[in-house]
Parts: sequence; C-alpha cells; structure tokens
Amino acid sequence: MRAVHIVDSGAPEEVLEIRELPRPDPGPGQVTVAVRACALQHADVFARVGHPEIEESFPKRPGTEIAGVVDEVGDGVEGWSPGDRVNVYHHVSCGECEFCERGEQTMCPHDRKLGSDFPGGLAEYVEVPAANLEAVPDHVEMTTAAAWPSSFTTAWRMLVSGGGLEPSETALILGASGGVGHAALQLADRIGAEVYATTSADWKAERAAAWAEAVIDYTETPFDEAVTELTDGRGVDLVADHVGEETWQRSIDSLATGGRMVICGATSGADPDIDIRSVYQRHRRILGTPMGSRQDFRDVGRLIARGEVSPVVDRVLPLDRVAEGHRAIENREVFGKVVVTPQE
Ligand code: ZN
Repeated sequence: MRAVHIVDSGAPEEVLEIRELPRPDPGPGQVTVAVRACALQHADVFARVGHPEIEESFPKRPGTEIAGVVDEVGDGVEGWSPGDRVNVYHHVSCGECEFCERGEQTMCPHDRKLGSDFPGGLAEYVEVPAANLEAVPDHVEMTTAAAWPSSFTTAWRMLVSGGGLEPSETALILGASGGVGHAALQLADRIGAEVYATTSADWKAERAAAWAEAVIDYTETPFDEAVTELTDGRGVDLVADHVGEETWQRSIDSLATGGRMVICGATSGADPDIDIRSVYQRHRRILGTPMGSRQDFRDVGRLIARGEVSPVVDRVLPLDRVAEGHRAIENREVFGKVVVTPQE
C-alpha cells in the first residue's frame, strides 16, 4: 500500500514522500481501515517544519482525521465487520487511570495519538483500535466524515463541554477560516449565541459572514477595539483563541468582565506578554481545551450526522498531491479543511 512519510524537516515538495509498505494486519482488538479520506491539519505543517528546540525524529507517518471502511478485524473485535463505514477518534489512552475513568481520555498521562505516536491515516490502509471507531451514516460523504474528527471535537470542547457557551451570550472566534476556527464559528452560531469572527481577507470574511453577526478583518482594525465598539463597550462572554502569542492580550481585552477565554493552540507562538491584572481584576478565566473527549467526539458527530453543522471541505486532493495541501494551509489559502483521498 502507499503511505505518506515526512522524511525530514523542509519544504513540502521535498520532504513529503509516498512509500510503498505492506498493508497492516490487524492485531488483537485492532481493525484495519481502508482510508477513503483523511484531512490535513495545521499540526501536519508543524510535524513537517519541526520545532527548533525539539529533536525531531523522521520519518513520520501523519494523518489524524480519518474516515474509511473497515477492511479486516483482528481477534476479539466485536460489533464491527468488513464494509462498515467508520470515523476514528485519534487518541489512544490507557483506559485505567483516574482521568480515563472520568472519561477524559486526552488528560491521560499515557495518551498517545494516531498520526504521531502511531502511523496515521495518510495511507491506503491504517490499523486502529476497534474501541476508537464510530459509525458513519450512509448519507454522510467520506470527505465530509474526514473533515471534522479533530477540528469539530476540539471546537465542541472549547465552546460547549469546556466553555459552556449559552444562547444568550456573545462569542468571538479568532481565525474563523481555519479548521478549528470554522468549526467553532458554526457551533457558536448553532448554539444561538451572537457571534463575531476575525479573518484576514475579504473572501474569507464573505464566507464567515454566513455564521457571524460581524466579521472583523484583524489586518485593518485591532480586533479588541472592534469588539469593544460592536458590544457598546461591554466585551464578549467567550473568546476562542487558537492563535497564541500574537493575539493573547487582545483576546483578554475583548472579554466582558467575568468572561472566559478558551485556548487550544498557539500557531503564532506560545510565549505572550500578558498583563495579569487584566485577568484577575476583571474576574476573567482562561481555560485550556486542547481536544475533546471520546464523548465529545460522539456528541459532535451526531450533530454532523443530522446536518446541523457541516464541515467545509475547501478542496479534495489525491495522495500524490498532499504537498499542495500543506502549501495551501501554510499560506492560509484555505477556508475549512483540505481532504486527501488515499485510494484514488
Ligand atoms: Zn489513562
């Protein structure tokens, strides 16, 4: 079978390689999935570019947002058969620690991930634990099914199970054109909150406007000032920030007194200058929500199956054009998700 490998740190055209490997045989409790679609994430770009202070080891086998069809089941697997259409929850936890017992798989100290600790789904086949599968209804396209598992589950955690956003509240979604951003935008709107969004280009603003009361071009106006004006000086109840260093203080300053900021990433860097008085004196809270639990995954999956929210697929690429997808994400030329179809 063919599988994408990141063989070194560098330009996508140079370091993304497709290699031929044997199809994985499922071990006990495991399932081999024929991957019909696998979405790219910003984390894929980081996996390739590497972190200057971390010793990276290559090759890597990326791909965390996976949809496909069960191809073969291992010993002891019940409830799944070849031909079943499935989504994959990509966190593999111990199942025994206090966090796992609480249903908080991503808090598990032994948490490992498909697509980084285990081979990922940018391949014709991938081996995954049967316990991580969820059924995909027949009416949901495979490209749609691959466009939400991580982005929408993270956004659900940010807004719903973590952030507790209420219909009467106001929310600001940063970077609303990205994978997590566009998911948060749709979910906040679906909840019934009044939603503001930031993006960097007119064409993205036009698309985001379908779910937002107002879209702020942060390259033209400081977004905290725009929010202050839009809310008559009050600020918003919740800010969803996955940008990090570049936006932190403005995000805090966009909050109403008592508001909360939910964070799930730091694509611009992780070392912001912040005025901590602007947090405690205004009763504001900052909450880490890096990814949702298995239950969050199930819950948001139901919403997608019912068509209440729809992941936006920006483009679909065959496996041998994966570098093009990396480029597009890196250059911020995407609204929603880039999906790769390994079997075409
Ligand atoms: Zn655990």
